[in-house]
Amino acid sequence: MTGIQGKVIAITGASSGIGEATAAYLAGKGAQLVLGARREDRLDAVVDGITAKGGTATGVIADVTRRGDLQRLTETALHQYGRLDVLVSNAGTMAVSPFDDLRQDDWDAMVSTHITGLLNGIGAALPVFRRQRFGQFVNVGSTAAYVVKPPQTVYAATKTAVKVLTEGLRQESGPDLRVTLVSPGFTNTEGIGKGAGLEAAAPMIRQRDEIAMPPSAIASAIGYAIEQPDGVDVSEIVVRPTVQA
Ligand code: NDP
Repeated sequence: MTGIQGKVIAITGASSGIGEATAAYLAGKGAQLVLGARREDRLDAVVDGITAKGGTATGVIADVTRRGDLQRLTETALHQYGRLDVLVSNAGTMAVSPFDDLRQDDWDAMVSTHITGLLNGIGAALPVFRRQRFGQFVNVGSTAAYVVKPPQTVYAATKTAVKVLTEGLRQESGPDLRVTLVSPGFTNTEGIGKGAGLEAAAPMIRQRDEIAMPPSAIASAIGYAIEQPDGVDVSEIVVRPTVQA
């Protein structure tokens, strides 16, 4: 199926930022959406905003670190719409800090959200895609995977894992599936302020605040990868502000 109209698309981390903007963009193009996140009130607001404009969206409380939650996300798509065309693995957390701060809970959160979370999505959607003989993974990485800039080393390492997992998945996918990595640079979202209380992260946070792109810039890049004809795989898109080194 070419285009976005009518496609069944599940998005993780859809309650704010890039996930929310992507949901709004795809809904505007006629996609049928299943949206996952942990914060119920924020997710409900996103779903309500889309349906108020005549779009189609269902919310599923889903923590990507929990295997069963991703299963429920994909099962909801199958029960409600009969298939799953695309899984956008977007959920993420940017808790940057220097190693000496020993913020090990933050390290764990980034590893479990970006690596285990992505694998849980693959585990839930791949059998569905194989059965259908079509499907697309869109994984949200980061420009942090291309240049290591402390104090975001742990974040960069987990996003490097996203890049590697995406490329390996693409090579194993065969002719029926499509696999896309979308790597944003500084984007103006709530996620950008997560390390704001940390002194060592402050200069980076300030720089991001000054130059960040709107999340709609990433939403349209994701849309571009989805709307290509079946046989066309947009393997990788990097989107950064022109002033970002
Ligand atoms: P936000 O904080 O606005 O959005 C993050 C989303 O992820 C929220 O919807 C949050 O929802 C969800 N989330 C976090 N942890 C989990 C979890 N365990 N399970 C399910 N959902 C979760 O930040 P962004 O929009 O900026 O981030 C989106 C993606 O873009 C992330 O992967 C991030 O790494 C990436 N990115 C962002 C950049 C930027 O500059 N903003 C640059 C490069 C990449 P909830 O809390 O409700 O679960």
